[in-house]
Amino acid sequence: MPQLIDISAFDYLPSAVAVMKKESNLIFINKKFTELFGYNFDDISSIDKWNKIVVSMEDDNDNHSFSWSNTLLKLENSLNEIHIEKSLLICKDKQIKNIEFSLSYSGDKFIVCFQDITSSSQTSSQLKNKVLKDKDDTQLKYESLILGFPDIVLVYDYDEHLLFANPSFTTQTGLLLEDIKHKPKYSFIHPDDRALVIEKISDYISSDTNNPLTLEYRILDKKSQVQWHNGIVAKISFHDSPTIQLISRDISKSKRDQESIIESEKRMSAIFDSAPVSMILLNYKREILQINKKGLSSLKKPYKELNQRAFGSVYSCISALDSPQGCGFGKSCNKCQIRQALEDTFLTGKPHYKVEITLKTLDGIQVFFLSTNLLQYTNRKEILASIDDITQQKQIENQLKYTIDQATESERLKTAFLQNISHEIRTPLNGILGFSNLLGNDNLTEEEKCFYIETLNESSSQLLNVVDNVLNLSRMETEKLPVYKEEVKLNNLLNELYDIYNEQIINKDISLLLNKELDNISSIIYSDTNKLTLIFENLLNNAVKFTKSGKITFGYTIKADKIEFFVEDTGIGIEKIYWIKIFERFYQIDHNLTRAFGGTGLGLTIAKGNVDLLGGKIWVNSSLGNGSSFYFSLQYNPVIESDITYSEKEPAPLDSILPLILVAEDEEINYLFMEEALKEVKVSLLHAKNGRETVEICRERENICLVLMDIKMPLMNGFDAFSAIKKFRPNLPIVAQTAYASSSDKQKADELGFNNYLVKPIRKNLLVEMINNYINP
Ligand code: ADP
Repeated sequence: MPQLIDISAFDYLPSAVAVMKKESNLIFINKKFTELFGYNFDDISSIDKWNKIVVSMEDDNDNHSFSWSNTLLKLENSLNEIHIEKSLLICKDKQIKNIEFSLSYSGDKFIVCFQDITSSSQTSSQLKNKVLKDKDDTQLKYESLILGFPDIVLVYDYDEHLLFANPSFTTQTGLLLEDIKHKPKYSFIHPDDRALVIEKISDYISSDTNNPLTLEYRILDKKSQVQWHNGIVAKISFHDSPTIQLISRDISKSKRDQESIIESEKRMSAIFDSAPVSMILLNYKREILQINKKGLSSLKKPYKELNQRAFGSVYSCISALDSPQGCGFGKSCNKCQIRQALEDTFLTGKPHYKVEITLKTLDGIQVFFLSTNLLQYTNRKEILASIDDITQQKQIENQLKYTIDQATESERLKTAFLQNISHEIRTPLNGILGFSNLLGNDNLTEEEKCFYIETLNESSSQLLNVVDNVLNLSRMETEKLPVYKEEVKLNNLLNELYDIYNEQIINKDISLLLNKELDNISSIIYSDTNKLTLIFENLLNNAVKFTKSGKITFGYTIKADKIEFFVEDTGIGIEKIYWIKIFERFYQIDHNLTRAFGGTGLGLTIAKGNVDLLGGKIWVNSSLGNGSSFYFSLQYNPVIESDITYSEKEPAPLDSILPLILVAEDEEINYLFMEEALKEVKVSLLHAKNGRETVEICRERENICLVLMDIKMPLMNGFDAFSAIKKFRPNLPIVAQTAYASSSDKQKADELGFNNYLVKPIRKNLLVEMINNYINP
């Protein structure tokens, strides 16, 4: 029987084809068959083998009746039918595939065409049970196969005239053969792709190759809808003539699927990239597979430097810092929260949400939230880790916590301060009131009187100290206190302090020592006397207060360009945890204990405030029970010898030999004090109660040789009175006296040319000494 086609043309079909004899001997399998199922001709040449490899689907009801031999037998009895079955085929590599096969019986041969429907069981079976009639037996071999073929099959001669088209052409496109026969060739192909297809096919015809040509193009169906097709063009022999066979498969769905996969991938990667947190995809070895834009920007590294890097080596946990090798080698790595979260998610699939972690990054130590999620695929697992930077939030939180703590502490301290100050004021006031009453008793002995007066004095200076401290602090906090740099005879200043404090410890088991490193001339420095005195007073007050026995040493040493002052005691000492706190206002260590020592918690704050104003540093070194050493260091600014102004040159000579002194003072009690204090000095006193009166008296009484001028007075203040007097008595010595121990008053008094300055409460000794200086120059 003449062969209509060359059987090897089956090799170009996209489906697996097997041709076998009635007795079930295999005659031929095409290349696709081997490709799809792995078997060579020899592997499956016998019927037994076919019964084993083609088996029924599990859910098939005819499970028991199915066998390859039976199927062939069935078809042999129903001649000319195309028989379509679905079953499973066990591949050579034992893989099981879902297949659909069409069987046609022609003469003594079966032609079987297999479709792999494992991934898509949509393979067309339109031709099931369709009867082919009036066909030449031999034609059936090819045409029955082609007719029952789900893909479009077209055969052209070399001049590209259409010779044959299978029914799938009409089924799939809706076009009839007549529609295309009289139209330009390949008219069903989309105009945009047509020229290229024609060109490729003609090139293929004229080439020597027998390998099929694969093309992708669009087809326009009857309704002008676009279908994407994949075409296999092969040279075959048809009716003994060389022809071109085009097998065209509709791939619109997979194309659409592909497009939607691409689209969905794009969407996912846009979401991934635009996430405001760092997102990292990790494999089972915790290596970085993918990292989003935020992640790259926060790590400040390009992807190629991070790809496949271990998560731990990129994000080094703060507790792994002690290991230079990075994550996993540090002492505390086993407890690492990052590692635990990742491992747990991998092993149990449990996601972790907002694990707080601290990492060392290029921007320093930062705090993050780590969340982990398992992504499970068929054959692998990945982890999606997201890292949210909460450093700022954390800082604000800490700041807030700190502020709240501070506010609570400050509230507590204020309450304690009010209680303390009330106590500090009431105690000396009680003393003053009580003893001043007792003094009124006529029957007092001289000794008792002395004791009462001493107690009155002590209580008054205690009270004055409290008032001074409060005033000093409030001035420091409300005014911008200026610093007046003047010549300070440091050794003299310390000597004076020594005298004062030596008197205070006279009844205590304490010795007071003074260390001065420089001689008197070199000890003259530029500084602010008031502030320096205030600092020392506060430190010495504490030293005396907190030392029961032993010694108190104070003084200074020169350290390079700095002068370091110190006040050391052998008192109760201070634990290290309080070394900073005690400089905060109102702060007192262990209130119960400290109450035994009194105080308001302001002394060190005032000392520190003044050291700050002088541009220095203050600190303490101490331990509980072993005394304390307070230090403050300032720039050493010595006055060079030639610049030193010797006070011996002052004051200006008195122009009167009469020791008449005018006391300008509006407070009666203060004037009485002056009278009392100057009783032993041979002077007469005149009293003026306001500025104007002072000026008048000076004008009238030329024999006045000294004016003690209060600054704050009614009608005219002391400064204005001074200026008025100086106009007509330029050489009359005028000494300012004020209750405001502020540097600005002193500065103003100096600028105006006051001859000297007395701070209230005026100490008797100081006053007498000064008066003597003026009246007995
Ligand atoms: P105050 O002495 O009025 O309580 P300060 O501000 O001068 O206030 O001192 C604060 C606290 O520091 C004191 O209450 C005390 O607990 C501690 N302190 C200061 N100086 C000494 C010292 N020399 N020895 C021991 N403790 C001291």
